[in-house]
Amino acid sequence: MKKRIAIIGAGMAGITAARTLLKAGHDVQVFEKSAGPGGRMATQNTPLGSFDKGAQYFTVRDERFAKALKEVPGTQALVKPWSATGVRVLDAHGAVLEAANPPKDPHFVAQPGMNALLLHWAQPLMATGQLHIHTAIESIEVDAIHPSRWQLRAQSSPHAGEPNTLGSMNQQGVIHSGFDQVILAIPSAQATQLLRRSSSKVHKTHFIEAMDKVEIGPCWTLMLAYPQASQPNLNRWGPQWNCARSIHHRIAWLSRETSKPARAGIERWTVQASTDWSLEHIEDSDERVKAKLIKGFAELTGIYAEPSFTLLHRWRYAKTITPLGQSFQWNAQMGLGTCGDWHLGHRVENAFVSGLTLALEMLKT
Ligand SMILES: Cc1cc2nc3c(=O)[nH]c(=O)nc-3n(C[C@H](O)[C@H](O)[C@H](O)COP(=O)(O)OP(=O)(O)OC[C@H]3O[C@@H](n4cnc5c(N)ncnc54)[C@H](O)[C@@H]3O)c2cc1C
Repeated sequence: MKKRIAIIGAGMAGITAARTLLKAGHDVQVFEKSAGPGGRMATQNTPLGSFDKGAQYFTVRDERFAKALKEVPGTQALVKPWSATGVRVLDAHGAVLEAANPPKDPHFVAQPGMNALLLHWAQPLMATGQLHIHTAIESIEVDAIHPSRWQLRAQSSPHAGEPNTLGSMNQQGVIHSGFDQVILAIPSAQATQLLRRSSSKVHKTHFIEAMDKVEIGPCWTLMLAYPQASQPNLNRWGPQWNCARSIHHRIAWLSRETSKPARAGIERWTVQASTDWSLEHIEDSDERVKAKLIKGFAELTGIYAEPSFTLLHRWRYAKTITPLGQSFQWNAQMGLGTCGDWHLGHRVENAFVSGLTLALEMLKT
C-alpha cells in the first residue's frame, strides 16, 4: 500500500532513505532546514573558489554503497578518486611523523564540490517538489484530522518565500500533515531536541532514552585562500604535501582544496580543529578562533603569508564519538524511525548504510 512518508534532513542518510522509499512507490516528502541537500557533505562557494566545508573525502568499503555509486545513473561521472600525495601525520611543528604511505582504503570526492553527489541523488525529489528547503521542523504531532497519522510543525526561514502547497500556515508555523510514517535523519542531539518538543505519543518510542549514550563532537573549520601563490616565478608555495592529519593541539586535519579533482584555481586550504580544542573553544568569538587556527596553520605548513580570504564555520555536531551501535531505530507500530551516521560511526558511508537499512526495514511492513 502506498504510504505518505516524511523525512526530516537531506543529508546522506535522509536522501538515501528517500530514494529507496520513492523507488518502492511511496509518496516521500523531505524537509531540510538549509538551502539545499548535502548536510555535512557541504560545499562552500566563495568568489575565490569552493571549499569542502564538511566531509573531506569518503571511503567505499560497503558493497551496497559501491553498488549505488556505480549504478545510479550519472554518479560515476561525479565521483573521483583523490590520491593527494598521501596522508601524512605531522607533529606540532609540522615535522612528518609518518611517511606518505598510500591510504589503506582509497579516498573519493565528488566533483566539482562534495555536495554534488547529494545534489544529484536528490534530483528526482527536487524535480517533483518533494524536497522542501528552508524548512526547519520544530516538532512531530498527532495529525489534527487523522489521529492515526502524523503532522509536522515547521518554522520556515525568511528565505523560504510562500509556504508550499503542502503546508497550511497558522500562527505557530507551517503544518505539513497526513503522514503515515516519519523519519528523523538528523544528528542525534538535534533529533533529541526535536523529539522532546514533540507530542507525548512520540515519546512512547523510547528513542530519546536509547540515544542518551550517543556523543557527537564539534569542529571549528577554517577556510583560507592565497591568490598571491599564483604570482609568476613563484615556483614553491607551502608544503609539498596536499593533506595531513596532525597532532598539533589545535589542528587535526589540513587539506589543499586545489589538489582535489575539478577544484583548480587560487590556492585554497581547509583546516579542521581537533574535537577537543573545538569543544574547549566552542563559544569563543570568531575572531579569536580564526587567529588561533591561522597561527596553528602557519606552524604546520610554514605558510606565514597573510591569507587574502578567510571564512570560519562552527559545526556543533560534526563527528560521532560514541555511536548508537545499531544501524537505525524503527518503531513499526508508531511509524517512526531514526537514521544518520551516528547510529554506526562518523563517516559518509555510515550515513548511507543507516538510511538504506532503515528504508529496507520499512519496506517489510
Ligand atoms: C568538518 C567535518 C569533516 C568530516 N570529514 C569526513 C570525512 O573526511 N570522511 C567522511 O566519511 N565523513 C566525514 N565527515 C562526516 C560526514 O560528513 C557525515 O558522516 C555525513 O555527512 C552525515 O550524514 P547524515 O545524513 O547522517 O547527517 P547530516 O549530513 O548532518 O544531514 C542532516 C541534515 O538535516 C538537516 N536538519 C537538521 N535539523 C533539521 C530540522 N529540524 N529540520 C529540517 N532539517 C534539519 C541538516 O541541515 C542536514 O542537512 C565530516 C563531517 C564534518 C562536519
